[in-house]
Amino acid sequence: MTEAEATPRKRVLLARPRGYCAGVDRAVKTVEEALKLYGPPIYVRKQIVHNKHVVSTLEQRGAIFVDENDEVPEGSIVIFSAHGVAPEVYEQARRRSLKAIDATCPLVTKVHQEARRFAAEDYDILLIGHEGHEEVIGTAGEAPAHIQLVDGPDGVDKVTVRDPAKVVWLSQTTLSVDETMATVERLKQRFPLLQSPPSDDICYATQNRQQAVKRIAPECDVVIVVGSRNSSNSVRLVEVALDAGTPAAHLVDYAAEIRDEWLSDVSTVGVTSGASVPDELVMQVLEHLADRGFTEVTEVTTAEERLTFSLPRELKRDMQAAAAAKQSAALVEAE
Ligand code: SF4
Repeated sequence: MTEAEATPRKRVLLARPRGYCAGVDRAVKTVEEALKLYGPPIYVRKQIVHNKHVVSTLEQRGAIFVDENDEVPEGSIVIFSAHGVAPEVYEQARRRSLKAIDATCPLVTKVHQEARRFAAEDYDILLIGHEGHEEVIGTAGEAPAHIQLVDGPDGVDKVTVRDPAKVVWLSQTTLSVDETMATVERLKQRFPLLQSPPSDDICYATQNRQQAVKRIAPECDVVIVVGSRNSSNSVRLVEVALDAGTPAAHLVDYAAEIRDEWLSDVSTVGVTSGASVPDELVMQVLEHLADRGFTEVTEVTTAEERLTFSLPRELKRDMQAAAAAKQSAALVEAE
């Protein structure tokens, strides 16, 4: 046997799409641009996106993360995170004379609009999602009297509705597609006239990342998902990878968290990342793996993503006003 034959091939399958989605990109840019325009400190209610690295980087630049509006000094600027907020939170900000900039992802806003519309038509709304997640709290706050949370298939039996002919399901944007459909099937058994949302609530980015990891997982001995523990879509990627056939999958914030024993007797490592993860963290994982002999990297692409969202209206307006003021000051100086 030659030396090459004796050494097992060590390779990485890198899922694509992975990492930043359009909503996260917009939310992070919102804080960055606000820091440039107004100067620090800028207050951000909750983590702007669920990623440790992103939050600490923005903190170093002057963002202050708070849990509630009452921690923000009156009259200051506060940014609402990508996960969305209940109407009561805007009201609190108004009462404290805060200047609120809303970085809610437009795809979460779409679910809020659906919730308002079905509540106005007096439906019982079954919101499939994880109890306590910020997005679910925000969406439920749109119509608390009409919305019940269904936390997975096991939550179905607890649901009670006023009129089984007037029930609709909506969902959190970052769930597992397969588990959500299993919950919907159980709900349909109980409520055959259950209506579906007008369009997918699980967003394109969540679906695409799950699809990509599903493609690579059956070929992998282990899958590394880069993402934070409180990131719903990242945690779902670990579950989807395991369901798709990889024997082991681990969630890490940083390359340094990868344990050498995860890689022992491993030939193929899958790598992906949640929608709130900057790609520099994935590149650090690839370097870490290369140092351990996994130098062959193949990117496996299952979809192309081109969607972008423009910055929040209130921020864009102030940026344009600042640019116009600068331009007229330059003209005065030139005269
Ligand atoms: Fe928006 Fe989906 Fe990204 Fe959440 S994961 S911020 S819903 S695009």
